[in-house]
Amino acid sequence: MTSSEYGPSDQRAYVNPGTEGQGIDGPAATGASPMNTLEQVSQLVRTCTDCPLGRGRTNAVPGEGNPHAEVMFIGEGPGYQEDRQGRPFVGPAGKLLEGLLASIGSNRDDVFIANMVKCRPPDNRDPSPAEMAACTKYLDRQVELVNPKLIVTLGRFAFGRYFPGEGITKARGKLRVKDGRKIFPVLHPAAVLRREELRPTMIEDFKAISEILQGGIEDPGMEPGVTAPEAPQPAQMSFVDAPGQPAVPAAQAETSTVSVDEAPRPEQLTLF
Ligand code: SF4
Ligand code: URA
Repeated sequence: MTSSEYGPSDQRAYVNPGTEGQGIDGPAATGASPMNTLEQVSQLVRTCTDCPLGRGRTNAVPGEGNPHAEVMFIGEGPGYQEDRQGRPFVGPAGKLLEGLLASIGSNRDDVFIANMVKCRPPDNRDPSPAEMAACTKYLDRQVELVNPKLIVTLGRFAFGRYFPGEGITKARGKLRVKDGRKIFPVLHPAAVLRREELRPTMIEDFKAISEILQGGIEDPGMEPGVTAPEAPQPAQMSFVDAPGQPAVPAAQAETSTVSVDEAPRPEQLTLF
């Protein structure tokens, strides 16, 4: 069974009953640990065992960045480098993300970067719906605390958090609103590393981020003038739309054991 077969609130098996559904005042009221600050969220994440991913981690990766960021990026989950360093997007995909940020005059200290799951899935497999459900309380709170003007979802899992059942390939590059929050879906940087032809699309989508922040794109749903790329082959695109398709093999996955300096050139990747 694939993650795309689950609905948004399915698979809550790992949700800690002590913290489930807690609001801002909930933890104090129930005696559970508080999440009043980003640092408190991070501390809870670092010792969390609410899903099986906690057992396999070297370091949890709570997320980091400007606590008052205008933009919050949400990725999928830690890869090899992130697990080693306890920081988000520090592998090859992170290098690309930094380059994209630089292309719009930003950097990682300006923004807040988090993930759907805070612990690395073994062999970089896709996070399961149950794992994402167990972990969502931390991301929910980070979103509340940072309260960004814009949330940029990276790839299909983060997009699916807000718009379950929709495909990222069609949705990317279009500003949306969900529950009063502006959501701008883009591809996952790892997908761009795998398919060089997606790079111009990603660069255009980042330009649109900067326009949205400057008020240039106000109407949610309005197209920022970006043409969608040719539809990818589902089997090729774990980070794009691949409902029901096997994940990219672990040895070739974006945050595998390849170090930043050894990041393969896209043209060298033989994924398919
Ligand atoms: Fe806890 Fe999230 Fe790590 Fe699972 S992935 S152990 S829910 S912090
Ligand atoms: N990919 C992600 O989705 N998140 C990271 O932190 C790193 C790579």
